[in-house]
Amino acid sequence: MNDLLSLKQAFLDDLSAVSDITDLQQLKAKYTGRKGLVTAQLKALSTVPPEERPLFGKAVNELKLFVDQTIDQKEESLKDIEKQKRLHAEKIDITLPGKPSHAGRFHPLNRVLQEIKDIFVSMGFGIEEGPEVELDYYNFEALNIPRHHPARDMQDTFYVSDDVVLRTHTSPVQVRVMEKKRPPLKIIAPGKVYRCDADISHTPMFHQVEGLMVDAGISFSDLKGVLELFIQSFFGKDTPVRFRPSYFPFTEPSAEVDIGCIFCTGKGCRVCKTTGWLEVMGCGMVNPKVFEMSGYSSDEYTGFAFGMGVERLTMLKYAIDDIRLFYENDLRFLRQF
Ligand SMILES: [Zn+2]
Repeated sequence: MNDLLSLKQAFLDDLSAVSDITDLQQLKAKYTGRKGLVTAQLKALSTVPPEERPLFGKAVNELKLFVDQTIDQKEESLKDIEKQKRLHAEKIDITLPGKPSHAGRFHPLNRVLQEIKDIFVSMGFGIEEGPEVELDYYNFEALNIPRHHPARDMQDTFYVSDDVVLRTHTSPVQVRVMEKKRPPLKIIAPGKVYRCDADISHTPMFHQVEGLMVDAGISFSDLKGVLELFIQSFFGKDTPVRFRPSYFPFTEPSAEVDIGCIFCTGKGCRVCKTTGWLEVMGCGMVNPKVFEMSGYSSDEYTGFAFGMGVERLTMLKYAIDDIRLFYENDLRFLRQF
């Protein structure tokens, strides 16, 4: 009987050292497992003298019951503690601020393109589009640039076949519109164009906006008025503008349009090559030969056309010195707009 009392005390001492479920399982094996200490006492019952057996048997069974119940209780309380620990560790603090999401934005070229469209639409121009893979006829011949014309060298392009090219300008859209519609015409044609060119100020693909206005009695002063209004809306109302004689096969007379250098305000700097002026677009009165090829009577109608590079205007507007930045998809650059 004394053995049972000291066994109970040993069990309680061991129990006080248990800190988790693993310890408890070891304790359970030590006392009530197949080779456990309490189990051994139950097995020893048969060796006890018959007169002591009832009393001893009752005491062993009580000890066994006590050990089982104590272990069950301890298991419950350990499970509860671990649950509380896990709840605490996995707690989500919903008061923390959320991660900000980065909103997308327009590419600088699209912003400028949209601004150009808005200005011309406000002056009553419509928007027309045409194919980027274009017939040689529309890209060159119908614009008074026959085969072997030296102007073809200025616009060396990508040939798909002898008669099909990637368009070198958006001017073919003019011809396509004139074939379908009668004057008065007032359109701009924005879009991608292609040339075999690649350096700090040229890329093989770039964007142009072409414009065309045709009606009876359109004169060079209409051309000047429209383009001056555009430039002053785009670059600021005090921007100086000048028209300088030039040559294009599809206009006659032709002019380059310059603006007063926006970097040095005309004093002369590296960007304007000390001239104080920056070239921004080409223009001219539509060549009568182009009208005739499109089936318009050059006696009845006159008109003007102009073309500008969207990359060039964007570079000037935001003082960007390398055209390749537009196509590198560097977010540090794009997020500045
Ligand atoms: Zn300058």
